[in-house]
Amino acid sequence: MVEIRLRNSMTRKVEPLVPLDPENVRMYVCGPTVYDRAHMGNGRAAVVFDVLYRLLRHVYGPDHVTYVRNITDVDDKINAEAQRRKAAGAEGTLEELIAARTDETIRWYHEDMAALGTLAPDHEPRATDYIAQMIAMIEGLVAKGHAYAAEGHVLFRVGSYSEYGALSGRTVDDMIAGARVEVAPYKEDPMDFVLWKPSDDDLPGWDSPWGRGRPGWHIECSVMADELLGAEFDIHGGGIDLQFPHHENEIAQSRCMGHGFAKMWVHNEMLQVEGKKMSKSLGNFFTVRDLLDQGVPGEVIRFVFLGTHYGKPMDWTERKREEAEATLRKWYRQASEALDNVEPYLGVVKALAGDLNTPQAVAEMHQLSQADDSPSLRASLKLLGLMENGVPGWAVGPDLSSYAALLSEARENAMASKDFSEVDRIKTALAAAGVEVRMSKTGVELLAAAGFDPDKLEAV
Ligand code: AMP
Ligand code: ZN
Repeated sequence: MVEIRLRNSMTRKVEPLVPLDPENVRMYVCGPTVYDRAHMGNGRAAVVFDVLYRLLRHVYGPDHVTYVRNITDVDDKINAEAQRRKAAGAEGTLEELIAARTDETIRWYHEDMAALGTLAPDHEPRATDYIAQMIAMIEGLVAKGHAYAAEGHVLFRVGSYSEYGALSGRTVDDMIAGARVEVAPYKEDPMDFVLWKPSDDDLPGWDSPWGRGRPGWHIECSVMADELLGAEFDIHGGGIDLQFPHHENEIAQSRCMGHGFAKMWVHNEMLQVEGKKMSKSLGNFFTVRDLLDQGVPGEVIRFVFLGTHYGKPMDWTERKREEAEATLRKWYRQASEALDNVEPYLGVVKALAGDLNTPQAVAEMHQLSQADDSPSLRASLKLLGLMENGVPGWAVGPDLSSYAALLSEARENAMASKDFSEVDRIKTALAAAGVEVRMSKTGVELLAAAGFDPDKLEAV
């Protein structure tokens, strides 16, 4: 059996994965807070852990891996979004607006992550289905002296856990200076963090020994991991932005309950855009759906992600997108006729087993392509979650992506200006060149039809 090695953030070393139970390798990954469309950074995280999930399934067998990715459906950002909608005149109670928003966002998340070729996890627990278990764990922490109630809140007593900070390697002074700790009069210590907080009458809330309220964010992962994977499990994943305080707090809660919790911690680095942090204020913030709507195939997005090791910050650039599309086009054509009868190439498996070295795996596949070993190429593509549904339309026909982008842009402008003449002009010119235009809410698809004439594309 291939030995999988992963960088464990806890020890800061690349270590062999030694499953607690090879019959059931268990992984927990922090999932989305469902108040808005997933952005490209969320997409990167989902793809990184999907590759790990696929590798685990390949090595241990698909029935011997359990992957849990939670859904955070109770959160101040969700409440704020629902309040904003209500203030803007949306119909329904706040509760109904919250339910509608979270359900819609979960649906979007599933659609968008499926477009990126990610498999559904084995369990996707929603935090609100585990409130009773959260209350029970908080009661347990209070009983053991690791938590205390104050003014409707329950706080974790950080001073009661001597190993606090081990994951992020920070001292308590660093953490306070990092200013992510909130000072509040009811706290014994500014480092103490919220396990439970009171809810106003108009916010979602549940009855508890401390009054009507809602859980803090960290406790949900400690509880859902325990419920679905047991007190100790193999891998805990998430973005590096969650290492402190979220993961540090998960560890403190679970360990103080006597749980072994995660044996290995794997963190993906952040996604950037053209060398800059992706943020709403810089205007370089985009969602997975934005790109899909522009006609970028999900598999191309996935392939761009694979080009950078998960432990390095990664830059999304237009150039990488173009290169990825050209490479996949070539490989898909090469692999399309190959039979599905071989194992993925060992060089690719070994690259992944070596701390998920996806750029190395891609380099191995370039060699397979050069050697024209199309069966191995095909099997390796599949291992990486590509070409699962055969060869997609965009990869077989001529490259019409720039025309699709042009039409998408014209349509967006037209929606704003209500002037559709440019959209109509492009559609007519494409039709004249023998291109079938399929426009839906989710994007623009162009297909070369029977009378396709590339020379006539110039008119577009
Ligand atoms: P959130 O919904 O923000 O809690 O994030 C869901 C997942 O996406 C978590 O694992 C985050 O660490 C990860 N994530 C958030 N932003 C980025 C980013 N810019 N790059 C990579 N991963 C991210
Ligand atoms: Zn978490």
